[in-house]
Amino acid sequence: MVIPAKIAKEWLILGNDDYIHAKSNHKGDISIEKRLHTHKHGQNPYAVIICCSDSRVIPENIFMAGIGDLFVIRLAGNVIDDFGIGSIEYAVSHLNTKLVVVLGHTMCGAVKSAIDDHHESFISSIIKEIQFAIGDEKDPTACSKLNVINTKKKILKSKLIKQELQNGLKIETALYHTHSGHVEFLKK
Ligand SMILES: [Zn+2]
Repeated sequence: MVIPAKIAKEWLILGNDDYIHAKSNHKGDISIEKRLHTHKHGQNPYAVIICCSDSRVIPENIFMAGIGDLFVIRLAGNVIDDFGIGSIEYAVSHLNTKLVVVLGHTMCGAVKSAIDDHHESFISSIIKEIQFAIGDEKDPTACSKLNVINTKKKILKSKLIKQELQNGLKIETALYHTHSGHVEFLKK
């Protein structure tokens, strides 16, 4: 089943509206039936979510999703590497997913470290990537937005993904507000 990007985005927005006032993920289907159905028939995720490893940013809860709904790629600072891009390629070419969302968030530790120029060891590779994205910007929220735009640009380096844009694929950028729980879809 192919779920068009427009419908997938509506489901994400509706799920997020529900999440903002929820106490548990009552809408995401994690039943035995769903588990067995996806086990037998495979997965058909309606969206790919690229987000930060931050424990406050939980895509399946933020969008009230369950088993088989979201194809998630998580690295600190929602950066993307070749493995991540390959994962997106797999979802859009083999699982027919038509919506990719690069989801940044407010109060991101990786973004803050990039602004403060504080890093060491392997963390440096993440921070340098974010510093490239934010340039001279110092406002953390503005930096988080610039960072998701950079990740989207990197994803578009994939010829396979670019090709899928002709087949209804949409790539959106968004920002998760850690205080309100709201996901703000961005224009770029
Ligand atoms: Zn973060």
